[in-house]
Amino acid sequence: MESQDILVIDGNEYAFSPGETILQVARRNGIDIPTLCWMKGASPTGACRVCVVEVEGARSLVASCAAPAAPNMVVRTQTPAVMRARRLNIELLVASGEHNCLVQDLDMDSWTDFQLKAMGAKEHRDLCPVYGNCRLQELAIQYQVRGCRFEPSEGRHEIETVNPFIVRDLSRCILCGRCVQACNEIQVNNAISFGYRGTKAKIVAKGDRALKDSDCVFCGECVQACPVGALVLSQDMESNGRVKGETKLVRTTCSYCGVGCQMYLHVRKGRIVRVTGVEDVGPNFGSLCVKGRFGYDFVHDPGRLKTPLIRDNGALREASWEEALKVVAENLDRIKKADGPDAIGVLASARITNEENYIAQKFARAVIGTNNVDHCARL
Ligand code: SF4
Ligand code: SF4
Ligand code: SF4
Repeated sequence: MESQDILVIDGNEYAFSPGETILQVARRNGIDIPTLCWMKGASPTGACRVCVVEVEGARSLVASCAAPAAPNMVVRTQTPAVMRARRLNIELLVASGEHNCLVQDLDMDSWTDFQLKAMGAKEHRDLCPVYGNCRLQELAIQYQVRGCRFEPSEGRHEIETVNPFIVRDLSRCILCGRCVQACNEIQVNNAISFGYRGTKAKIVAKGDRALKDSDCVFCGECVQACPVGALVLSQDMESNGRVKGETKLVRTTCSYCGVGCQMYLHVRKGRIVRVTGVEDVGPNFGSLCVKGRFGYDFVHDPGRLKTPLIRDNGALREASWEEALKVVAENLDRIKKADGPDAIGVLASARITNEENYIAQKFARAVIGTNNVDHCARL
């Protein structure tokens, strides 16, 4: 590699490709630079300034997520000035809204003191629903933000609970913009954007309406992107569901359509409590649609068929697979002999795999002898 493709980070030389940012080169080489607003697959904004680094010759600290690597650049990621700046930025973010988690109160004497203070907070009596699973809280602890030197700003926004699936509590929003990028750049739904200015700035759906009255299709991508408790799934509010560490992850393929999105089922006590997309793997690279993310109630539906049913004298009764398949085979054979193979049709499904659909058409053509093959998306 020629010298113009080299930069120095913390005293070591690293090669980079044109267009790479300092953050990308650092992460590729295992150097930890914290981020809050940066999101893979979206354009960097440098909004939170938690990823600042020192660059030799620069007049001030540089947001590494948005700064392109340059030949012979000398970068330092762990200097006292960098650590102080990151800590201050985190502190300001914690003070910017209703962040009544332990982070603001680490100086308090006891858990009881903390709870008493939290109970006094209007609208935020309960522990934050993402407590223990919040990037801001994690960074605040890592950078030892103890208490808060700044007067916390008043929670300016009412909690929006009228939407299906999603609760918006913008008083916890740190205006990182990840939800807007997730909606507009990743899912290309363009349902939300930054609205108003200055201290009134907030994330708005068109015309500052509730999500349910906007162009939102409730894909939930913004919730997955939100690093704090500003966007929370309704089911997590109801079950007080802090999923991290309490659930087992089961990787599977979404069964709703033929795209084959890769997803994790978060399973707690034998029940699915959440679904998230698998990052870094196609075809969906972490994204899911409303069906994949929220449509899992059927798994635990008590009315779900678990055994074949055979209709006897007008009433359905449970049967074994052997008995049911025997009845089907006898009836197909009888119909074919009486009326020919074209009296039979095979309906496959868009929700089964390619291989299963192949077997279905093979069965229709080679075993029954008909080309009557179609699919029904609702099967
Ligand atoms: S969003 Fe994060 S930082 Fe804010 S209260 Fe909840 S856990 Fe704490
Ligand atoms: S749920 Fe989907 S469509 Fe609605 S705001 Fe979030 S990302 Fe946009
Ligand atoms: S709602 Fe969440 S993701 Fe969106 S700007 Fe606020 S903190 Fe960031």
